[in-house]
Amino acid sequence: MKEAELELAAKLAIRSRCELRPLHSTAGYAELRENFAIGLPVKGRDSLEVIRNLVEAATPGLSGSTDPGFLAWVIGGSSPTGVAADWLASAWGQNAGMFLTAPAAAVAEEVAGEWLVDLMQLPHGSSVGFSTGATMAAFSCLASARLGVLARKGVDLEECGLAGAPPVAIYIAEDAHVSNYSVLRYLGFGNRQIRRIPSLEQGTFDLAALEAAMAEDGDAPRIVIAQAGHIMSGAFDDFTEIARLCREHDTWLHVDGAFGLWCRASPRLRHLAKGVDLADSWSVDGHKWLQVPYDSGFAIVKDRTVHRAAMRMTAGYIEREAANEPDPSDYVPELSRRARGFAAWAMLQHLGRRGLAEMIERHCRAAHSIAAALAKVDGIEMRNDVVLNQIALGFEPLPGMDAPEAVANRLNATGRYFLRTANWRGEKVLRISVISDRVDEQLGARLAHDLASVWRELRASLSETNETRFRFARHMADTPLS
Ligand SMILES: *Cc1c(COP(=O)(O)O)cnc(C)c1O
Repeated sequence: MKEAELELAAKLAIRSRCELRPLHSTAGYAELRENFAIGLPVKGRDSLEVIRNLVEAATPGLSGSTDPGFLAWVIGGSSPTGVAADWLASAWGQNAGMFLTAPAAAVAEEVAGEWLVDLMQLPHGSSVGFSTGATMAAFSCLASARLGVLARKGVDLEECGLAGAPPVAIYIAEDAHVSNYSVLRYLGFGNRQIRRIPSLEQGTFDLAALEAAMAEDGDAPRIVIAQAGHIMSGAFDDFTEIARLCREHDTWLHVDGAFGLWCRASPRLRHLAKGVDLADSWSVDGHKWLQVPYDSGFAIVKDRTVHRAAMRMTAGYIEREAANEPDPSDYVPELSRRARGFAAWAMLQHLGRRGLAEMIERHCRAAHSIAAALAKVDGIEMRNDVVLNQIALGFEPLPGMDAPEAVANRLNATGRYFLRTANWRGEKVLRISVISDRVDEQLGARLAHDLASVWRELRASLSETNETRFRFARHMADTPLS
């Protein structure tokens, strides 16, 4: 009987992954409410029936985020290898808080973490916390930063708390990913401590503005948050220059590299993040370019001691056995948690150095060729310099029509794509993120072709309508009023 639930779930999961599912959820909110809000039974129900009901209830509301046509957000494809490893993590039911509770999970994380640091060519010996995603990775990194910069000023944060500490100045590009602003709030920083530095066109720091702002803050403890892969443009900050400023002002440099930091795994693309190894901490996602299923993020900190001091839990009942046995909870906020290391370990083994580099390069080539093809189309303009995998398309305004929305809607209606618009720098753009493992240049070419056709049809239909209107107006003008 115990096997039956797992077998049924495996069978249904495999069917759902292997059959062609619609890219877009076919059910709306009301229908999904009806499917799930079936009342809480007093007496428990048979588990096989529950599993079948769950699949029936959820299926119409599933997004096709594992499909290569899903290009709306920076969302990885959740590779079957990672999913399989993750199933095992669930089935094993390991609590990855401590070595004592889950020895294999702790060691898998330690080893996968070392591989990550090596792949990204970050300082040897950096510590890695396995978090839910880049947001919580940034939380661990910036909690370490907060503790670290105050300690350098001789302030014991544990003892005096933020209320008793000198104000910390935080420098962040105003166009940086919103999650960083949320993390700063969780850490007790408000607008008075956050210096929003003007962004350049591609969303990166205006270095002159950053330098000027840093010069104004005397000898305050400071943290700079830079970006490897801007969420709209994919652009990178100039880390070498920022690191120089940080050294000058004894500043902690954190890098939000949720997806962009993965370029370090490719010899061809590594140059984009030149100097990023000069930072003090990095937040990265596993559920983006590594294609690990949700949830998976990595908090990497150069100074392991500071990382542990910021995140470690100690209590009488969680004494450690031996000094060299790693406790995963030392580097993230949670104690009890999922054994995230198994899926990351499996994906790193499955892809290998070369496989990972080739996948990332294939995605970037696809993005470049989509952009090159569309840049030639009349009325379409690139709103970003395509350096990585992100494309932001602008459209010539069409009278009485939201052009980016209309193009996205028509492409979505084909059932082959999942695309969304976004607002960036005061304009609506169509955003394309090439990051799902199975996207290749063929899909890129097809998308570019379909997008160009849809755009041309829209323009043509509009000029036809205008033509009709014009003729009608002339007819009216020629007709005597009485
Ligand atoms: C996705 C992303 C984040 C947030 O990551 P989560 O995994 O969703 O928490 C932060 N920064 C950038 C640049 C991102 O792309």
